Amino acid sequence: MVSIAEQIIVIGDGVAGLAMTLALAQHGHEVTLITEGRNLPDRHMGGMQLAPNSWAALRQLSCEDAIKAHAKPLELMRLMALATGHTLIHLPLDAAHHRQPYASVTRRGLLVALMEKVKSLVTVNVIEAKVVTVASDMAHKKACLSLDDGKTIEADWVFGADGVTGICRRYIQGDQDLRPTRSSRQAHRFAIPLSKMPEVMASASTSVWLGREGHIVHYPLSDDYLNMVVMTSSHEGGKKQAEQLLGQHPWLGDGGVPLDDALVTPLTEWPRCDSWLRGRVVVTGDSAHQMPPHLAQGAGQALVDAASLSQMIASGKNGVSLQDILPVWVGQRMRQVRSVLDAASAAGRVFSPPPALAMMRDAAVGLGGMAVLPRILDRIWAA
Ligand SMILES: Cc1cc2nc3c(=O)[nH]c(=O)nc-3n(C[C@H](O)[C@H](O)[C@H](O)COP(=O)(O)OP(=O)(O)OC[C@H]3O[C@@H](n4cnc5c(N)ncnc54)[C@H](O)[C@@H]3O)c2cc1C
Repeated sequence: MVSIAEQIIVIGDGVAGLAMTLALAQHGHEVTLITEGRNLPDRHMGGMQLAPNSWAALRQLSCEDAIKAHAKPLELMRLMALATGHTLIHLPLDAAHHRQPYASVTRRGLLVALMEKVKSLVTVNVIEAKVVTVASDMAHKKACLSLDDGKTIEADWVFGADGVTGICRRYIQGDQDLRPTRSSRQAHRFAIPLSKMPEVMASASTSVWLGREGHIVHYPLSDDYLNMVVMTSSHEGGKKQAEQLLGQHPWLGDGGVPLDDALVTPLTEWPRCDSWLRGRVVVTGDSAHQMPPHLAQGAGQALVDAASLSQMIASGKNGVSLQDILPVWVGQRMRQVRSVLDAASAAGRVFSPPPALAMMRDAAVGLGGMAVLPRILDRIWAA
């Protein structure tokens, strides 16, 4: 089908902005992608997990193979109790349960491969600038941006993929001063060469170790590094808590984990977006649906945003415009994402209970977890 070619600006070159640029440009829209021009850092950027719904989205965006070059297939998901070393949940990531592909990817590989795809499209123009303001005109016929070099630009639509603290989300929420609703936790992220780790850490599995004051997640990456995230339950003493958690890990207790090199990110939760669309401005990715990382779905849902819009454009009638499609797409995606946000928040409560309840949590997850978690994940991954 042929949609009416429109002029679109996408703000942000994270996963959401790159995927949305692909989705729109592949349907003939003229896309200007605005990036702040920050080079990727020299350090290892770690990795992320992509579940079957993310891979289906990448397929729809015609870049599954390019991303697979940076992927390590994973065959098993395990939840373990740090206190006892017992396996609480053992979830095969197999084709028989429709849980494939499931793989880790390096963050750098994912971003570089998506950007290469974007730059290969003739209808995309990439410019480096920081967007300072965004607005729709009074008649809602155009969106208008001002840049830090003083220029202003107009487009039919602006897609804000500028993250949870970005200006597009603030514009859509009525320029409210948004503040996190919860910010007591920290993620300590690092990547370690697998050659420096016990051999067992290289197994093709993603492991979650539930502790009293936080938890540890680790999985191997395609470049023979181990991606490790230690989530602590408070800011104060976060590093000490992380050391304690690592000290309990049966394979890591003797140190050797470079905690000082960790990238420490506060795990903030933000109020949910009441709407993703105002006038000619639309949000996607974390800007629309930032979520706790416990179900590994943040970037995955950004990919699904783009792929589902691509699919909707593809299945529309000839001559259909984004004016017709976007309200329907926003309504559909907001409904779908709500259940993922609820599940991710619920997982956060299980992963970080009050410390006194941690033993009870382990017992409950061991007894009932296999009846609950696979159902939740399979539903999200199939969507
Ligand atoms: C510890 C942790 C583990 C995670 N693990 C996973 C996982 O395993 N799987 C998964 O799917 N997700 C995971 N996530 C979530 C995932 O990292 C995010 O959801 C995803 O990276 C968000 O991408 P984004 O493009 O929406 O936003 P961002 O990556 O924040 O990108 C926003 C972009 O907008 C640009 N920008 C902002 N303001 C402006 C402006 N004014 N002008 C121009 N540009 C601007 C920024 O430069 C940036 O490039 C994890 C998150 C955390 C914290």
